[in-house]
Amino acid sequence: MSTHRQHTHGHSHRHYGEAMLSVEDALERILAHFHRLDAEDTPLLHALGQTLAADAVARHDIPPLDNSAMDGYAIQAADARGASADTPVTLRVDGAVAAGELPTVAVTPGAAVRIMTGAPVPDGADAVVPFEDTDEMQRRADGASLNEIAIRYEVGAGDDIRPAGQDVRKGQCVLGAGALLRPAEIGVLASLGYDTVSVVRRPVVAILATGNELLEPGDAYEPGKIYNSNTYSIAASVARYGGIPKLIGIARDDLPSMNASLREGLDSDMLVTSAGVSKGDYDMVKDVLSQHGEIDFWSVRMRPAKPLAFGALNADGGRKVPLLGLPGNPVSALVAFEQFGRAAIRRMLGKPDAANPTVSAILDEPIYNNDSRRVFARAIIRRENGVYRAALTGDQSSNLLTSMARANGLAICPEDLSVKQAGETVQVQMLDWTEETF
Ligand code: AMP
Ligand code: MG
Repeated sequence: MSTHRQHTHGHSHRHYGEAMLSVEDALERILAHFHRLDAEDTPLLHALGQTLAADAVARHDIPPLDNSAMDGYAIQAADARGASADTPVTLRVDGAVAAGELPTVAVTPGAAVRIMTGAPVPDGADAVVPFEDTDEMQRRADGASLNEIAIRYEVGAGDDIRPAGQDVRKGQCVLGAGALLRPAEIGVLASLGYDTVSVVRRPVVAILATGNELLEPGDAYEPGKIYNSNTYSIAASVARYGGIPKLIGIARDDLPSMNASLREGLDSDMLVTSAGVSKGDYDMVKDVLSQHGEIDFWSVRMRPAKPLAFGALNADGGRKVPLLGLPGNPVSALVAFEQFGRAAIRRMLGKPDAANPTVSAILDEPIYNNDSRRVFARAIIRRENGVYRAALTGDQSSNLLTSMARANGLAICPEDLSVKQAGETVQVQMLDWTEETF
């Protein structure tokens, strides 16, 4: 293994025409092939995580009318002047208004209207007195008449009234094109009365596994074979980052099978393959991909996931379908997808370019870097005494998929350092947040 690494270090790998690319260069070249997709109308609740394709404009004020912030009594503030617990002011109750109703009586001097939170404020009233500042409870307890009410505190004009248009004005652009739709934005759109919304559509990402050794989960186990995991981890990643995975199965390591499979992916927005980019399969894959388009085979200055293929396949009507060829080892495939596939999906969804959220953490143990690549070490991040600390998941071989399952972040040792020592601060790209992380 290590002799192989020595041999392939630098620019000398006989299979790769190009020099080693930095992660940033690879990302830039990849992203140059992706742009924001077109708009589609989608039911509001399906739009979570998508971005708005057009400004959302308010068709009415929110709130639509002046309304009460409290359950209480709408009055004229001047009537409560001088009111206190010892010197309450008693007003006549002329009616009531509930949320969703329009008031049927106006408030006149010396009178009040019982009002519920959210109910429109009657004409004539300029303040609401909450129940707890009246003697209503006492009257109910005493069985006394509710045709009158005693006000026990002074109020100012406008108190506990929420003015029309306080949140949103009719005609206002409430959410601009490009806005990310989180639960709050979904709620805002609902409050504007939108049941469908124009969003940047989700990319369809075709996913192809390659290899003679692969069985599909559910197939009877056969000695010498392994179950295809890459399709599923990558499809799950695609879905997680907002794309629509399209599983197109397994291609065998031969030209006809690869050809047939690749065609299945040509109606997608991006095709992601796994395996076949390392030494053993490279020549065949290069041949078949070259028949379908222009593909480059790269060495990326990273560990895991050094070998990577990228290019564009020719589809019907002159359309080009970007192809991202991930390495076969399950951890390599996922780590490369986090760096490159995720970014491509975000671009297509109209989201800003950004890696996973990154935190600084103190290393429990060293990360070694023996060949000047950027190491993405599987790490378990926890918070201790207010700081993040990073433990590694153990053996960092790229075939150990369960170690990826135990990791919640990728701790980075830069390419120009031979080691990040225990106690040093590392940058960690978070894969997720759990309760333990905080
Ligand atoms: P290759 O790139 O074909 O040399 O594959 C590298 C390693 O990844 C080999 O051990 C393969 O068996 C393994 N591998 C390739 N494809 C998959 C897959 N879809 N699921 C799990 N392991 C895979
Ligand atoms: Mg293979």
